Amino acid sequence: MCYWLVTYMRYTCGHEQQTGSHYIDCHMSTCVISTHHRQEDHDCANTCLQEMIEDQHIVMERTTVACDVCRGIPPASRSAGGRNSSSAARTN
Ligand SMILES: [Zn+2]
Ligand SMILES: [Zn+2]
Ligand SMILES: [Zn+2]
Repeated sequence: MCYWLVTYMRYTCGHEQQTGSHYIDCHMSTCVISTHHRQEDHDCANTCLQEMIEDQHIVMERTTVACDVCRGIPPASRSAGGRNSSSAARTN
C-alpha cells in the first residue's frame, strides 16, 4: 500500500496550499510497487497488492495569516512586480 503523502499548509482563512509530497513505501513483500516486493516466483496477481492507494492529504502546518489570494497577492508572480498592459484601453 504505497502512496503519496501530500502535505499542506493551512491558512487562517481556511485555504490550504500544498507544501510538499512524499513518496511512502510500505515495505511490504506483497506490494508490487514496494521496493520490498518479493523477488521469487509467486502468484503475484492474486496475492499481491497491484496498485497504490490514493494520495493521502494531510495538513502539516498552520499559519495565522491569510493566504496570498485572500491578501490580494497574485499566487504566481510573487516578486515579479506589476506589469501593466497599456494596450488594454480600447475605444470602440
Ligand atoms: Zn506498497
Ligand atoms: Zn507480487
Ligand atoms: Zn485564503
